[in-house]
Amino acid sequence: MKFYSTSNRDHSLSFSQAVLQGLAPDRGLYFPSAIPELSAAQWSDILQCNIAEMGALLMAPYTDGELTSCELLQIFDEVFNFEIPLVDINSDISTLELFHGPTGAFKDVGARFLSRVMSRFSDEKLTILVATSGDTGSAVANGFLGLENIDVVILYPKGKTSKLQEQQLTTLGQNIRALEVEGTFDDCQDMVKSAFLDKEIQAQRPLSSANSINLARWIPQGIYFAWALAQSENENPVIAVPSGNFGNLASGMLMQKMGMPVGRFIAATNLNDSVPRFLKGSEYKAKSSMSTISNAMDVGDPSNFIRMVHLSGGEEELRQNLTGYSCGDTTTREWIRHCYKNFNYVCDPHGAIGYGALRSNLNIREHGIFMETAHPAKFGDVVEPTLAIELEVPERLKECLNKQKEALLIPASSAALKEYFLSR
Ligand SMILES: *Cc1c(COP(=O)(O)O)cnc(C)c1O
Repeated sequence: MKFYSTSNRDHSLSFSQAVLQGLAPDRGLYFPSAIPELSAAQWSDILQCNIAEMGALLMAPYTDGELTSCELLQIFDEVFNFEIPLVDINSDISTLELFHGPTGAFKDVGARFLSRVMSRFSDEKLTILVATSGDTGSAVANGFLGLENIDVVILYPKGKTSKLQEQQLTTLGQNIRALEVEGTFDDCQDMVKSAFLDKEIQAQRPLSSANSINLARWIPQGIYFAWALAQSENENPVIAVPSGNFGNLASGMLMQKMGMPVGRFIAATNLNDSVPRFLKGSEYKAKSSMSTISNAMDVGDPSNFIRMVHLSGGEEELRQNLTGYSCGDTTTREWIRHCYKNFNYVCDPHGAIGYGALRSNLNIREHGIFMETAHPAKFGDVVEPTLAIELEVPERLKECLNKQKEALLIPASSAALKEYFLSR
């Protein structure tokens, strides 16, 4: 299987090449040149499997011999070493809890797969460089923790993450280094970009990215959509996906294209609503991002929009295929309260928008599933005052709170990052 760049169909690579490269040189995203459509009988077989077997079967057409089926099975056994339960909210709505992994967010799945395949595909020592506003950095750091041929350097903005998020980034040790930048998330991203373009740094230490647009983070996320269906007693459910960069939803749509029996998808966003606006009929327009209480979805120009267009075969087809929903912070808090008061279930601010999307869109006789993308205790500063309750932080998330923070404070300049790399 070849993967072409969404900016140029003539530029195409194999899975391993595209994974090591991340973003295409023309800044396009890699996209499968052919998407296999499985029959209803094949899907009904797949839905009988356990999640690791499902992963191996659904991923095989894409890795296309670059990973054997035994390797795939072994990798997915490691990746899915935590539960992803489907929990009923009431008779119409269930939620897929994607937060039982090591860092409490769905990004653990993609990051754990990416780290394992990168370490197999790369024959030189790599340094993964990431900028994070919170969740991505910890999922990536945790995914790569302890790998011998890969180091991870994380840039995060001083004072802009939650205490828990900072501890998750700065207490791992081993092959993970945290740089605390005296600036904003945008500064961190600019520093990362200039490091990638810097020949001196690259000559000393090849840098690679673990960005969410990487195929090896994107495609395996589709597996838990199938896992949701496998656990559901309802046919063709409607699935609402709280979205920011739209990697999660686009991976579900890839499975839909492969014939997975889903009713339809709802794209659920906060006020960063470029996609829901587009779905209502206006032209797609990137906006600068706004800060909200569901901050992992504060994306004004989602990278994976282009993949959703390619999956649907055009912009108009995408509008036909997908429903949109968006709401602001006040409504998000109302959905958190609504779900708790009526069903005694605590949503995090991201999942709550998925819940709201279902409540606002489900037709009679439709069953809905929303993705719970993070553990509510990760966003205790929003959820606790909204519900006037105290949340129990799970042991695995709490552990890092008692560990010693290790981070190097650096100014927000590319020169400072360069000096860090060249002096090591
Ligand atoms: C990253 C993230 C999202 C958005 O996912 P995308 O794939 O970027 O759309 C939603 N919720 C949480 C908690 C996240 O960390």
